[in-house]
Amino acid sequence: MKKKSTIDLYSEYVMATYTRVPLVLTRGKGARVWDDKGKSYLDFFPGWAVSGIGHCHPRVVKAVRSQAKRILHVSNNYYNEIQGELAAKIIEYSFDGKAFFCNSGAEAIEAAIKLSRKYGAPSSRYEIITMLKSFHGRTLAAIAATGQDKVKKGFDPIPEGFKHIPFNDIEAFKSALTDKTIAVMLEPIQGEGGINVADKEYIKALRDICDKRDMLLIFDEVQTGMGRTGEVFCFKHYGIEPDVITLAKSLGGGLPIGAMVAGGKFADVLTSGTHASTFGGSPVVCASALAVFEAIEKDGLIENTREMGVYLKAELQGLASKHNVITGIKGMGLMLGVVLSVDGAGIYDRCLKKGLLINCTQEKILRIMPPITVTKKEIDEAVSILDGVLNAL
Ligand code: PLP
Repeated sequence: MKKKSTIDLYSEYVMATYTRVPLVLTRGKGARVWDDKGKSYLDFFPGWAVSGIGHCHPRVVKAVRSQAKRILHVSNNYYNEIQGELAAKIIEYSFDGKAFFCNSGAEAIEAAIKLSRKYGAPSSRYEIITMLKSFHGRTLAAIAATGQDKVKKGFDPIPEGFKHIPFNDIEAFKSALTDKTIAVMLEPIQGEGGINVADKEYIKALRDICDKRDMLLIFDEVQTGMGRTGEVFCFKHYGIEPDVITLAKSLGGGLPIGAMVAGGKFADVLTSGTHASTFGGSPVVCASALAVFEAIEKDGLIENTREMGVYLKAELQGLASKHNVITGIKGMGLMLGVVLSVDGAGIYDRCLKKGLLINCTQEKILRIMPPITVTKKEIDEAVSILDGVLNAL
């Protein structure tokens, strides 16, 4: 009997919850991936930011191999050396506090919501303010937190206790506060929402109000974390410390890991028996995440992100001055958005055919997030492909 193709197997046996491009990827190295026919693509949106230091980074592969030979899984009723080391490393780059490990961004968000509610319980506070156009994941609590109706459709009743307000609008925040409010949660740069960068003054005002009202300031750094914006964590750009950060995506260098990190008095709110995740912080994924930190530290990836971020932005601005369909470039570091006056789906498709993988969000924003290991040569190649596509429009 003829072997079924991968795409046929998916049609028959995999739930169609994703809009998939008919591309079977079989290999990756750095900023490049290859399909099953051997065609190569420059990946400027690697795994929705998961492969943040590029595909199959040698440090990650080495660490995973070496740990896999020792022990694959240690349950959380014992200790594993690697989880402790990773927690210490995350704390070194964030703030005095403690980490809870899980497997995804949504799970990290769930943990942050539970921590907030537990902290608020004695004062009967449970409401969390989040932003319109935010994205926090696909579990029930995460879609409740997400400020986009499209993710909630068909899933009533949606968990209560969330209020959505316009991003960067401090008056809207003040008006939304009640005696039930316990936290505010936001992405410092909205990713799915279209690369919207939080204003410094706004963040400072949120910090101030949270301090005065004994509320938590939660930064969802699932997309912005691990060097992407030119700091290991994006909150560093703002001169404040949040109380909680959520991490996932590029933390694991390609392997599934999430973390919720809480500082100061919030670090010990979740106590024994209040929260858990069977696979959370298992040795192989923690070894992989430690290798990501090692790459950031030893290979100068923060410096590279800053330098290449400036270069890529300038090159995209160059395209904007040539092509009227581009109305602006926004973002920070290597998390950039090209704002279009037309629907971006066609541009995305044409780039794909020419061997460049990017993303289009909110219909008119091309999201460009190459690995933070990216080189000038790779940027030149990507910009030249995009230029050609825009010329042919
Ligand atoms: N938070 C942000 C900012 C995200 O961008 C995402 C995913 O895109 C999530 C949370 C959810 O992460 P996951 O898909 O790993 O559950």
